[in-house]
This record gives sequence, structure tokens and C-alpha cells, in this order.
Amino acid sequence: MATSSIKPSLKNRHCLGGVLLMSLIVGNVVLLDPAHAQVNAADKVVVAHRGASGYLPEHTMEAAVLAMSMGADFQEQDVVMTKDDQLVVWHDLTLDRNSDVRHKFPGRAREDGRHYVIDFTLEELRSLSVTEGYRLDDSGQEQKIYPERFPLWLGNFRIHTFAEQLEVIQGFNRTTGRDVGIYPELKAPAFHHEHGKDIGMAVLSELKRFGYTSKDSNVYVQTFEFAELRRVKEEVQPALGIELKLVQLMGDDGSYYWMSRPGGMLELAAVADGIGPEKGMIISADSTPDNIMISSLVRDAHEAGLEVHPYTFRADEGQVPAYARDFDHLLELFLFEAGVDGLFTDFTDKAVHFLNNRP
Ligand code: CA
Repeated sequence: MATSSIKPSLKNRHCLGGVLLMSLIVGNVVLLDPAHAQVNAADKVVVAHRGASGYLPEHTMEAAVLAMSMGADFQEQDVVMTKDDQLVVWHDLTLDRNSDVRHKFPGRAREDGRHYVIDFTLEELRSLSVTEGYRLDDSGQEQKIYPERFPLWLGNFRIHTFAEQLEVIQGFNRTTGRDVGIYPELKAPAFHHEHGKDIGMAVLSELKRFGYTSKDSNVYVQTFEFAELRRVKEEVQPALGIELKLVQLMGDDGSYYWMSRPGGMLELAAVADGIGPEKGMIISADSTPDNIMISSLVRDAHEAGLEVHPYTFRADEGQVPAYARDFDHLLELFLFEAGVDGLFTDFTDKAVHFLNNRP
């Protein structure tokens, strides 16, 4: 059966479990992969994870623009707050992995030796040089975390605000006629609350200011902390008079297990529109080429009406699991065997190319 050229509605996408059941009832006459039958490649979404971070330092404006030009459907922003309550696009709560903070601000580390975004003003943060992620080895030498990625300290990359990135995305959409969506993450809301900062309210207020107000707006708001997601749903959004699509991120550790137990998905669905699981929760890392072990997570999520956008797909050497032949095969397994609705990748161009060329 050919894939439909008609774009299925979200409702159809959420009924894959029902389609599977139908296939079984119809019997053994036609062997259909329900994912193939219902969803074509054009319906899968590519989320640029921290921008085109496989090619340029993550969360720089340059990386965001490159990802959009590569055809990303959504551009991700991790968002943290500064000492003076500004929102910046940055992944870690600390600055040490991607900047020269230890040279520019000696004596400003906490007892753990790290420099926290929340201890610096926006003006101070703007003075930092940003670079590819690195760590210090035992001899104090800087070693890139992904050795083949962008060279350390080349270029003049800077921290920018959430609003500045939204301006660039909306401007880019105007000049190109595209409709690149956004996928902001509330980083460590409990940590921010402990420091007297309401990052949920701050981010959602900014989204409203930029015109993202309803579930039809091209935005997903994500966080790992379910308590905050529920607070956004029940308190923050009603206070602002907006209602956006919300995504619960799931890590591969015990604190998230309840979400994938019976009833857990339904409890999530009362708050969230989708889930963002670590990819090993969908296809076991213990899989082999002859034995791909797909969990029930995608099926259960779809039955609860939740979209599924797993993370993180990396094409660097050593980052493609051994059960997959190559990066394209990894994408094929997740998008069309496990049936996820989209995925977070550091390599937007490769995912877009794969989807555009899939028969
Ligand atoms: Ca993120």
C-alpha cells in the first residue's frame, strides 16, 4: 500500500494503536506496518537540538540560523535565567563547558568549582566567549567532548537572549515564507524557584509577547519536571490567558518510570500534549542488528493521545548505536518502525535529507 499523499490530521496520528488493532482484526491478508500506512515522511518533525550543534557551537545564534536554513521544522531553545532575571539561551546551569568564564571572572565560582549562569548579569554573560563543548583533562588541557566538532575558540560566538532568538526566527520566517517552530525548554525549574525565580512564568510570558498563545501556535514547551509542567498547565497559562502545547521530557532513570507504567501515560496526557523520551526508552540499547527491541512506549503514548519526540540523534563517530547500520538506518528504525512523530537531532541536515529522500 502506498503512503497517503494526504496529510493525516493529528487525530489520525494519535490513532495508530487503533489502526494496529484493525490490521490484526482484518487478519493476515495484508501485512501492514501501521506506521507506514498512516504517516508519511512529510509528517515527521525534525527538531534542531541546540541548533545545528553538530556543526557550530550549540545555542549560538549562528547554530540556530544554520539549522533553520538546513530545513529544521523546530528550533530548540534551552532557557535559563540570569542574576538580573533575563532569559538566555543556554543548556547548562553552569558556564564552564562552553565558555571562557574561568578566565574572565576569576573568583566567581561556587564551592563546587563551577560558575552558574544565575550568579551573573546579562551584561557580564555577554562579555564571555562561547565555544564548542569541552572538559579539562587531568593535566588541565581543554579536550572537546565531540572531537570532530567545531574547533575550540575560533570565531566570535556570544550568549544571546531568548527574545533575541525569537526575533531572528520570526524575521527568518518572514523573509523566507517558512514557518519554523520553536521548542523552548524550561531548564531546572525547581532550581530557579529555589533562587526566587519563576522561569515558567517568565518563559510563557515572553512567548505570549511574541504571539504564541494557543495550541495552534507553532511551539512546544518542554521540561523534565512534571510538577512544573502541571503548574504551567494549571496556573501559569490560565493567569496569562494562553494555552500552548506542552511536552514532558523523560530521562532513562527511575524517577520517570511511573510515567510509562499503566495509567502513567493517561496521567501525563491530562497535562501534556507529547513526551520527549531518551531514545533508549523506545529502542533498547541492548538491541542487536538481528534483534531490535522496541518498547511499548510509543504505542502507549499514542493511545493516550500523546505525540512522541525522542532525543538525541547524533551522527558523530561512536554515537550511532551498534544495532543500527548507520545514521539513516537509526532514523528509519525510530521514525518508521517504532513510529515516533519526530526527533531531536544535532544533525538537522541529515534528518531532513533522510526524510526528503525516503520513498
Ligand atoms: Ca533541551
